[in-house]
Parts: sequence; structure tokens; C-alpha cells
Amino acid sequence: MTSPRKSPVWHPFTQHALHSEMTRIVRGEGAYLYTADDRRIIDAIASWWVVTHGHCHPHIVRAIQEQAEQLNQIIFAGHTHDPAEQVAAQLLKLAPRGLDYVFFSDSGSTSVEVALKMALGYWHNIGVPRTQIIVMEHSYHGDTVGTMSVGARGVFNKAYEPLLFDVASIPFPAAGREQATLDALEAACKNETAAAFIVEPLILGAGGMLMYPPSVLKEMKRICEASGVLFIADEVMTGWGRTGTLFACEQADVSPDIACYSKGLTGGSLPLAVTLCRAEIYDAHYSNDRSRTFFHSSSYTANPVACAAARANLELWQHGASDRVASVAAMQERLIAPFRADPRFENVRRTGTVTAVDLKASDAGYLAGIGPKLQAFFQRRDLLLRPLGNTIYVMPPYCATEADLEEIYAAIGDAADELA
Ligand SMILES: *Cc1c(COP(=O)(O)O)cnc(C)c1O
Repeated sequence: MTSPRKSPVWHPFTQHALHSEMTRIVRGEGAYLYTADDRRIIDAIASWWVVTHGHCHPHIVRAIQEQAEQLNQIIFAGHTHDPAEQVAAQLLKLAPRGLDYVFFSDSGSTSVEVALKMALGYWHNIGVPRTQIIVMEHSYHGDTVGTMSVGARGVFNKAYEPLLFDVASIPFPAAGREQATLDALEAACKNETAAAFIVEPLILGAGGMLMYPPSVLKEMKRICEASGVLFIADEVMTGWGRTGTLFACEQADVSPDIACYSKGLTGGSLPLAVTLCRAEIYDAHYSNDRSRTFFHSSSYTANPVACAAARANLELWQHGASDRVASVAAMQERLIAPFRADPRFENVRRTGTVTAVDLKASDAGYLAGIGPKLQAFFQRRDLLLRPLGNTIYVMPPYCATEADLEEIYAAIGDAADELA
């Protein structure tokens, strides 16, 4: 098909033949986005899960402005700067204990690529032939070739399948079937080539906001530890208060060997990511032999302006952000509760500040016809919601008010009336 569109811009995860008009946003403030024709849209998904304290938070904006006038880019090989040093030091104070080093990159996907390379580099450098990655069914870790390899296979990556590497996969720990997951992990870890297990702690995001309890996370870590398999926590989405605690691993008292943080790292203001690791992994690369160097970089590694935004974000976490998380989680629980008895919905769930419901529909799955219809319905109500197929989830910035959330849930109920 040829396109009648005027714009040359190709948008992400967008079928332009079915969705020709992009909503033009000119301004963001707190939980709201404003269109060119001055409509006010409530951002109910934190602009793809990144905006934690609200759009254009003044403390972060000021930090960006000040840093941009001082030093806005510097090669990070052989050089360093205060924003990066301070962010790294502060992160190690806040992250689960046992993590000792911080590697910067630019996106969630690259932080996961770095994690996989750290894991394989570790085994390679200590001379142990372990190369297999263990993954969980329905996982999402990014859209680069390496992260697609460790994520769920399906319509998203069918065309690229010949490029993807083999992994061992364990089932999602659905309620009542947790033991099958643990048994599968135990079996996979027994394979002598098992190198690392990568998992999204407590919530599988893009896979459909699937939730499982801290007790399972704790058990999975114990199993990996017993076989020496590295445990990689992909907290790109679950970090920064989303699950109710700063990081999801805290709730299971789990110290991962490697952890990935991005999305809310700058409060959702600029792209930045980090991969944290234990000293053993760094030490396996620390050598007089240059061939053991960790060979990874990107042009903008630890960009000073992005690091200054992250530093400002970390300051906000020392000044009341946790209280706002608790308050949003409580409001979310109050508003989602009535849906548990509503026959139009199933699998009504909440972890921390994230809620999700599955609208009963004849077709489920990401490509379900109901998805775009729901999205269009919410758009007409001036709400930014982006259902995953028939799964409607709410993941607001922490500055959202009770009135904002009430408006969102009222629309979800109305959508079910109109579309189910
Ligand atoms: C969003 C996401 C990623 C990828 O992050 P990008 O910044 O979009 O590359 C990786 N892992 C998880 C769990 C995510 O939710």
C-alpha cells in the first residue's frame, strides 16, 4: 500500500495505514498533556511508563538547564564528570545491597544488552563455558536483536527470527501454577551451559501487565544462586516506585547479580539507563590484559545533561516521592476494587501504582480488534491510555490527583459498556 500521509516521520509501534493522524502535543505539565488546539489530556500511562513525578517537573527542568550551560557532552572513555559520579554513588546507596558498579547507557534496551554482555563476559573471562540465557514466557526486554532474543517470540519479531539466538524458556508463574515455574527454572539451571536468568520482577509489563508475588521472585533467586546462574533483574519498568517500593526486588529481599534501570531514572525527562553489577562481574573484566576489557560503549554514554536530570530525580526520591507513591497506590486500590466484582472484566489486578483489567472480549491478545477501538474511545475522552489488546492498565505519574484517576476509571467502565 502507498501512504497518503504528508509527514515523513515513521512512528514506533504504529501501523500508519490504520492510524494516520498523530496527536500533536505542544506542552506537558504534571499529569497533563496539551494539544495544539489546547485540549488537556490526562496522561494515564506516564507517557510509556517513564514520567514518574510529572511532565516538566520544575526541579528536573532547572537541573537540565543548569547542566546544559556548563557541560553538555563529553566522551566517557577516559573522562568523568560530577553528575555521573554522583548518580552512580547515590544509586548504589538506594539499590539492593550487593551491587557495586554502575555502567551507563541510553535506553532500557541497551541496559539489557549490557547486562547480557556483562553476564557472558563474566563467564568467558573466568574460563567457564556458560553461554545459555534463561528467560520467562511473556517477557519483554526491548526491541534490539539481543533483547528480542530474550523476550517473547511472536508477531513483533517474526520477521527477524533468523537473527535471534536460542534461549531456555520457563513458564510464567500464574496463580496456582507457581511450582511449575520453579521446577522449570531448577531444571534449566542444571544445564551446565546455563549462564544467566533474566526476569522482570513482579510485573511483566509489555507482556500484558502480568503480576506475580514477591515469594516467587525470592524462590527464583534462590534457585539461580544454588546453581551459580547469574540473576538479572530487568527493572526498566518496575523501578522507580512502580511496584510500591523504589525497586521491585526490595519486596522479595532479592539482591540481583545484575540490575537494569531506565525509564524513570531521569523522572522521564531525558533518555538514560544504567546496568548495575556485583563486584565479581567487574573484577572478572579487571585485568592487565586488555582483551578482558568490557567492550561496550555508545556515543552519548553518561551524557552529563541526562545525568544531571537523573541526579535531580534522585533528589526528589529523598524528598517525599515515596509518600506520593503510597498515596497513588492507595487511590489505585480504592478505584480498582469495584472492578473485581464487575462481570465485564476479569483478572483485575494491582501491584503498587499499577493496575490492570482484562476486558472480556471474544478476541484476546495484542492484535485483538478491541485494542485500537479502546484506544480511540479513550482518545475521544481526552485520556492517554494504550491498552495491550484487551488488557487496560493504568500507570499514572505520581502527581495524578484523585479526580484525575476517577475520570480514568469512569472512562474504563464506559468503554466496556460501549465496546464489549
Ligand atoms: C520498556 C522496557 C525495556 C526497553 O526500554 P527502552 O527504553 O524502550 O529501550 C526493557 N525492559 C522492560 C521491562 C521494559 O518495560
